[in-house]
Amino acid sequence: MGKSLLQFTKKGIYCSQAKVYIDPWRPVDKAIVTHAHADHSRKGMKHYLTHHYSIPIMKARLGKNIVTQGLHYGEEITINEVKFSLHPAGHVVGSAQVRVEYNGEVWVVSGDYKTQDDGLSTPFEPVKCHTFITECTFGLPVFLWQPQHHVISSIEEWWQNNQSQNRCSLISAYSLGKAQRILYNLAPLGPIYVHSSVDQMNKAIEESGIRLKNKYQPITKHLSKADFEKALIISPGTTGDNWTKLLGKFNTAACSGWMQLRGMKRRQNLDTGFVLSDHADWQGLNQAIKCTTAENIICTHGYSDIFSAWLREQGLNAHTEQTLFQGEE
Ligand SMILES: [Zn+2]
Ligand SMILES: [Zn+2]
Repeated sequence: MGKSLLQFTKKGIYCSQAKVYIDPWRPVDKAIVTHAHADHSRKGMKHYLTHHYSIPIMKARLGKNIVTQGLHYGEEITINEVKFSLHPAGHVVGSAQVRVEYNGEVWVVSGDYKTQDDGLSTPFEPVKCHTFITECTFGLPVFLWQPQHHVISSIEEWWQNNQSQNRCSLISAYSLGKAQRILYNLAPLGPIYVHSSVDQMNKAIEESGIRLKNKYQPITKHLSKADFEKALIISPGTTGDNWTKLLGKFNTAACSGWMQLRGMKRRQNLDTGFVLSDHADWQGLNQAIKCTTAENIICTHGYSDIFSAWLREQGLNAHTEQTLFQGEE
């Protein structure tokens, strides 16, 4: 038996035929990057191939001087007879699954994905393949997401309720992904301020011509308590920063898939938790895998052992591989 089309090596997922790594975690010459989150898009690669939308985000995070090449979804590139193409993963703006084809054999690396349409990221598209490498951050049956508009309505209600008490609303959301998803989908109910890290990601996304709908301003020292009184603040964290002193009275909330677990809010000392994730839930994972028609499933980050055992019970040839990818923070 010859070598697998993709191998799990110390440096990352490797295609030896093309001498290309996908989302490598050690420095290599040629990297294909699924999306711009820090655990998938690392510094030190000589050359990055990724979706056009991910390039400004990666440059904002890794430096302007990185060498990049952009692809559109569905556009094919051939390296030493291996065909590579990117397909929407629905995870964050620019996120892609990587399809790899050689000698009629097709593998797909999912990166991170969600099957729910968030309105902003290009929606997930299943890609038929023989072997599917899937994340499984939320690969347990307890993780089932509500439709997005339900979650957005509850955030709006929370904000309005805080406004009626002249309190500021401080919501924690990851700076790339959920921050923009909230910004894009919320009704314009009042002023919105964003933490500098969110502002930086917003600007990078807007460089690709994407509009985030709601108006927003970065938090600066020149703002006063009165400015924040009825405002919503989007920030990656709700504690530990000096700027929270600027706010006056405020309520806190977090947006995360982990909020589905009991006790999570209390543990993080939050007033409110919204179950909102950029990863597929239990149903999403199972549906996505079915749609690929793949017989071989390789599970990476998340509940990979439990999830691959479940897939084997369903008659699939599934196993786990270790990576340095992380799930939702
Ligand atoms: Zn990610
Ligand atoms: Zn990940």
